[in-house]
Amino acid sequence: MSKGCQEGKGTPRLTEISCPRCGGVIEVFVKMGGGVNETGRLVSDESCPKCGFVAQAGTPLDRCKTL
Ligand SMILES: [Zn+2]
Repeated sequence: MSKGCQEGKGTPRLTEISCPRCGGVIEVFVKMGGGVNETGRLVSDESCPKCGFVAQAGTPLDRCKTL
């Protein structure tokens, strides 16, 4: 994972969410929407390292529990 990515709209951000199944930490990339009220969405499938739960791409971030 390289640092120094430019912040800006359309740039996926690395975010940690809480696994809904086991409560473990899942690192996901989230792409924010265009508007201020737009919810970010996961841009790729990421699985929980503990239980294997898959947070699927396209899931709105407001349905996830962020840390
Ligand atoms: Zn889990």
